[in-house]
Amino acid sequence: MSASRTHRIRCPRCSDEFDVELWDSVNVADRPLARDEVMGNRLNVVQCPTCELSFRVDKPVLYLDPGRGFAVWWAPEGAREPERVHAEFKLLESHIEQHAGGIPLRLLLAFDRREFVERIFVAEAGLDERLVEYVKYMVLSRNPKRLDPARHRLRFAGPPADGSPTDVDFVVEDTTTGRLEGVLRYSRAAFEQVEQLFGRSPSEALAELFPGPRPDAADLFRDGADSVAAPNDDEPP
Ligand SMILES: [Zn+2]
Repeated sequence: MSASRTHRIRCPRCSDEFDVELWDSVNVADRPLARDEVMGNRLNVVQCPTCELSFRVDKPVLYLDPGRGFAVWWAPEGAREPERVHAEFKLLESHIEQHAGGIPLRLLLAFDRREFVERIFVAEAGLDERLVEYVKYMVLSRNPKRLDPARHRLRFAGPPADGSPTDVDFVVEDTTTGRLEGVLRYSRAAFEQVEQLFGRSPSEALAELFPGPRPDAADLFRDGADSVAAPNDDEPP
């Protein structure tokens, strides 16, 4: 079930305080419009009654898609307080079916809005978010002339609107400006090839590489590249 509550908020321009109804959780089964609202950056967008400024209120939102068997929890305070958010995630994960009428769902975690959208695309594509992060790591580490892991981030964008459904796009984001700079296209077969590098139990190997609830390719660069290569890691994706 989708759920909203009244919140008291302050306008970032005129500082006036007012009450608004904001979504705490959206379920596309009872509110199909919610997906477009998230994708179009319209979810929890409010207008100040005093100065008429429209702005998005970033607060935790649980996105549920029981038909596809997944949920994404967007916790905007995660970058500042990862430990608290990880603990809350574990708790939410342990009773996620209560939010979806008894249906068990795979729960994913996002810290910012782009990541929230990205996790929805990954789950809709039926891919493992840890595998997607590992593919990003490989792409970033093998294109040092075009991509700098310290400055670039790849955002999974799902199948291209104008291309083959067996392809998927990554959008290149410049993290210093927030600008989206271009698109890299990969076939889904490339993901399967990368998965095969991990041998018989890719999900276990990926869980070792990304032990937390929010896998992020950037963590592998921080930890040092030598320790994270897959055993037969010699074919580019
Ligand atoms: Zn205002």
